[in-house]
Amino acid sequence: MTPTTPDFANELHWVMDILHNIDVGLVVVDLNMHIRLWNGFMQNHSAKAPEAVLNQNIFDIFPELPETWFRRKIETVAVLQTAAFTTWEQRPYLFHFKNYRPVTGSAKFMYQNCTMLPLTNAQGEVNHVCVIIYDVTEVAIHREQLQQANEQLQHINRTDGLTGLLNRKAWEQSLRQEFKRYQRYHRASSLIMLDIDHFKDINDTYGHPAGDEVIRRTAAALVSSLRDSDVAGRYGGEEFAVILVDTDATGAEIVAERLRTSVEASSVAYEEHVINYTISLGIAELTPKITDPTMWIDTADRGLYNAKRAGRNRSSIYYT
Ligand code: GH3
Ligand code: MG
Ligand code: MG
Repeated sequence: MTPTTPDFANELHWVMDILHNIDVGLVVVDLNMHIRLWNGFMQNHSAKAPEAVLNQNIFDIFPELPETWFRRKIETVAVLQTAAFTTWEQRPYLFHFKNYRPVTGSAKFMYQNCTMLPLTNAQGEVNHVCVIIYDVTEVAIHREQLQQANEQLQHINRTDGLTGLLNRKAWEQSLRQEFKRYQRYHRASSLIMLDIDHFKDINDTYGHPAGDEVIRRTAAALVSSLRDSDVAGRYGGEEFAVILVDTDATGAEIVAERLRTSVEASSVAYEEHVINYTISLGIAELTPKITDPTMWIDTADRGLYNAKRAGRNRSSIYYT
């Protein structure tokens, strides 16, 4: 069919209707950045009628547009005569429109993907570019919610539920990292393994929940007496482990003794009981003789064993 047939006029009318009512934003700009087409989607979301924007410079109407970036994109599309795409992950939106969808009410604005198409005239030249705006708010919000859930899960996966300290798996990961750091930089590093004395008796005398409270309080004592760079974890039932970075055995012993005396001096009130208890600690400074992280733990464990054997409520360095 040729452009002169009445059908063509009809079809053009339909096409214009479709363009106006389609649920994506359509904007045509010329190379001077003047707006030449503005469809219903753009009108509805910007609250700007075609009369207000047509033949106007797009940056005058939308000062929030990233001008340098937008210009470069449009020029590249026109020169290379190829389409360009941007996603909300690169740039959350091009036009700052309010989000109106009830399902995704938490979004403050409409997330947008954007396609830029070169428009060729009858002479094969590109003097106009069509910018297509897709509302992808739902996708973006769901993705962000998923990411948040994943972060929470990761946190839960690394944390001990009773004490909030790192769990054994996560703590051992830190230990391996610290071991590697030592191998590279040979900075002093020490390990403390600590274990509550006669904990079975506490459980037996006051009950398991009271025992849990003692574990929690021991963890709190650890947290309050360590530096931010130290890494404390719950190693097992009533056993804890601490990595002390940039600390030699003598320094670690000072930390261990401070911890030991603070636990000794404090008591845990549980229901009508006042529970006094003590801890024993084993210390191992990393040396070249310790060839893997497991051996480091074993060494500190030997110190702990010696502290127990020597009568408990004490700390003991194991030298390699
Ligand atoms: P020692 O001075 O030699 O360390 O004696 P102990 O009684 O502390 O040592 P043992 O390892 O024999 O006892 C540890 C007890 O800790 C055994 C176990 O029932 C208890 N336990 C392990 N995990 C938990 C927990 O999460 N909560 C409570 N309440 N008890 C726990
Ligand atoms: Mg134990
Ligand atoms: Mg114990």
